[in-house]
Amino acid sequence: MGRGEVVNFARLREKMVQEQLLERGIRDSRVIGAFLKVPREKFVPKKMQVYAYEDGPLSIGYGQTISQPYMVALMTELLGLDKRDKVLEIGTGSGYQTAILAELAGEVYSVERIPELAERAQEVLQDLGYANVKIRVGDGTLGWDTYAPYDRIIVTAGAPKVPLPLIEQLAPGGRMVIPVGPRYHQVLKVLEKTSDGEVVEKEDIPCVFVPLIGAEGWQE
Ligand code: SAH
Repeated sequence: MGRGEVVNFARLREKMVQEQLLERGIRDSRVIGAFLKVPREKFVPKKMQVYAYEDGPLSIGYGQTISQPYMVALMTELLGLDKRDKVLEIGTGSGYQTAILAELAGEVYSVERIPELAERAQEVLQDLGYANVKIRVGDGTLGWDTYAPYDRIIVTAGAPKVPLPLIEQLAPGGRMVIPVGPRYHQVLKVLEKTSDGEVVEKEDIPCVFVPLIGAEGWQE
């Protein structure tokens, strides 16, 4: 990309949605709509913006990454969001997934353990006008008690096991999507809590996430 060249991000966004999401089977039209709308380039460091729509995770500093677009889309589709849902997200990171959730749900509560990332995500989301998002710095393996229970919970870091506080903070009829497994490779799990509080678990595809670090996660 030469100096002074203007990048057509809208064009790159459409191409990403076509080639990485639609052609791989993401079908939910609300999810597709959100991906066409949210400017992913705003959620990566300036010098990475030209790579924002590439088919993979990107470094966002502090040893963390913004997830691959397809992974964000798949997890969002698996959540099956309703416009009225109250959602808890663990691992705000860049805030990109947060914005997608904010497009599709009622209220989004997001917890990030690295203050600098939380602050940056907060700023970008505010600039873009998302008024239905609250971000907190802390250990997300303990959930966010204040606003529980949640209709949907999404964890965007790899967990050694499903943190018990998150199961407790999931509403009856609720659903959680979380990568679970050893430190360097996990499987995407979908948990559903029935109306009488029973938890039913299904497995989706294998995946790789940075570690979920905390009291109910990995040790630093
Ligand atoms: N959805 C984000 C993913 C960022 S990577 C994005 O696409 O940008 C995962 C994030 O989880 C990192 O920012 C990391 O700092 C955070 N994280 C790890 N353990 C955590 C914990 N216990 N509580 C909250 N955030 C945590």
